[in-house]
Amino acid sequence: MTTLGVTGGIGSGKTTVCRFFEELGARVFYADAEAKRLMQEDPGAREEIVAAFGAESYDADGRLDRAYLATRIFGDEANVTRINRIVHPRVFAAFQQAKEAAERDGIALLVHEAALIFEAGGDRHLDAVAVVDASVADRLRWVTERDGVSEAQVQARMAHQLPPEELRRRADYVLENTGSLAALRRQVERLYERLVKGR
Ligand code: ATP
Repeated sequence: MTTLGVTGGIGSGKTTVCRFFEELGARVFYADAEAKRLMQEDPGAREEIVAAFGAESYDADGRLDRAYLATRIFGDEANVTRINRIVHPRVFAAFQQAKEAAERDGIALLVHEAALIFEAGGDRHLDAVAVVDASVADRLRWVTERDGVSEAQVQARMAHQLPPEELRRRADYVLENTGSLAALRRQVERLYERLVKGR
């Protein structure tokens, strides 16, 4: 089995690419969704989050208070490191389990989708990494339409991510999301063939 990371800046088309991979028979591990789930459900993660950021990290119903946590983490490097130390090893362990399960199930390609892969050193544990890239103008339009947020909010998120040139330089493969979904799908099909045939 081959493992492939799929990453890219906000709104570049990562999820779209992953849906195409799924249609072709790949399995996708959505790392960011798994991180959210762990912070909510994993007893050890909850305990460590409370120890690090206080009981106000969860509301009276036991739900993670994302807004509160964001105020503690945003722009505070030490707290970013603390939360990453709680969440990353658990996501990594969940990925290892997903890998074993995919192998047992005879899956040819397991995709690891995450907004940050290189930043977290995750590429070391993957056979290859594909970066999805689209123009800044398209990304701004797609995300403002999808999430009902302002361009300034999307730009603020972009400013905290690795620049596209850096992502492209570090990628093993670049998927060009130039606007045509059919063209993007063809690139995904070619990459799937290439990775699966080489197994
Ligand atoms: P995020 O970083 O926010 O998780 P993402 O990289 O996963 O986003 P997607 O969710 O796949 O990106 O795409 C962002 C939005 O743009 C979605 O609403 C998607 O339907 C739309 N989109 C992506 N690519 C195209 C395209 N080629 N043509 C039209 N719409 C597109």
